[in-house]
Amino acid sequence: MAEKWIDGAGLAAKLREEVAAGVKNIARQGRAVHLTAVLVGSTPAGELYAQRQREACEAAGISYELRTLPGDVDRQTVEATLAALNHDTSITGIMLHLPLPRHLDATALQYQINPIKDVEGVNPANIGYVVYGHTLIAPCTALAVIELIKSTGVMLRGAEAVVVGASEIAGKPIALLLSEQMATITLCHIATRDLAAHTQRAEILVVAVGKPGLITAEHVKDGAIVIDVGINRITLADGSKKTVGDVDAEGVYPKVSRITPVPGGVGPMTVAMLLKNTLRSAELLTSR
Ligand code: NAP
Repeated sequence: MAEKWIDGAGLAAKLREEVAAGVKNIARQGRAVHLTAVLVGSTPAGELYAQRQREACEAAGISYELRTLPGDVDRQTVEATLAALNHDTSITGIMLHLPLPRHLDATALQYQINPIKDVEGVNPANIGYVVYGHTLIAPCTALAVIELIKSTGVMLRGAEAVVVGASEIAGKPIALLLSEQMATITLCHIATRDLAAHTQRAEILVVAVGKPGLITAEHVKDGAIVIDVGINRITLADGSKKTVGDVDAEGVYPKVSRITPVPGGVGPMTVAMLLKNTLRSAELLTSR
């Protein structure tokens, strides 16, 4: 049987090489690609994530700076920080690490990032540009999902695609980009009455919920392509920890035509897409 796993890590490595070549091209024009990430409150998980991000950027030739603000910082100070980064012409990309402390409104702050420098594609203006067909920067996870699907060679135009999970960061942008590719979209969420009735029709099934084992063999159509966005840390019977997706991968494997592994699927591709968006921001700024 041909390999059904979609090699997200391998595709991501290729994309990183392309980004590195693009960064060199910008350097030849005397410009640098520079990403500044803002982290509010210092947690070990946040610091570790930022460190990984720094390594990924630097490997692609992108310079990376982390601005850490205290956890009790007020909204005005975060806004002033973002405004200064927007105006600094040496900074080509900006991102705001989530989650934020509860007293800060993430969406309102993401709105403050200059859409051209918004490398995560989270400013509502960037979502709007996608809707109107004038995409500047699209959300990274949704771009990653589209690339993984395209890597299978499947025709998206007219395909029956079902997305499970409707968050602003994952499910909704994924559905939006799939509809841009002319797939026929069903977006399932917490109020969906009969989840299996929808997922069983899916030629392409994308799951982004955060519930391990939500999708089992009975939810999946024979020959479907399954993209598992979920990342969940579970504790096994022997007390050890494991990272799994939302799909019972072992159970659905015999039925699917292709499926992304967790880890090694959407995760590495999302990081690579952040780098690609960072390059795109710099290119957009250079062309203005
Ligand atoms: P989220 O904000 O919690 O959103 C989950 C969505 O699923 C919500 O729309 C929720 O509805 C819905 N939902 C909950 N139970 C459901 C059910 N039984 N059937 C259908 N829909 C249901 O989470 P998220 O940020 O979108 O992340 C989802 C998962 O993807 C997480 O595991 C996260 O770690 C992972 N993720 C991975 C990447 C990556 O790069 N690989 C990127 C982003 C997210 P309600 O809000 O109404 O409950």
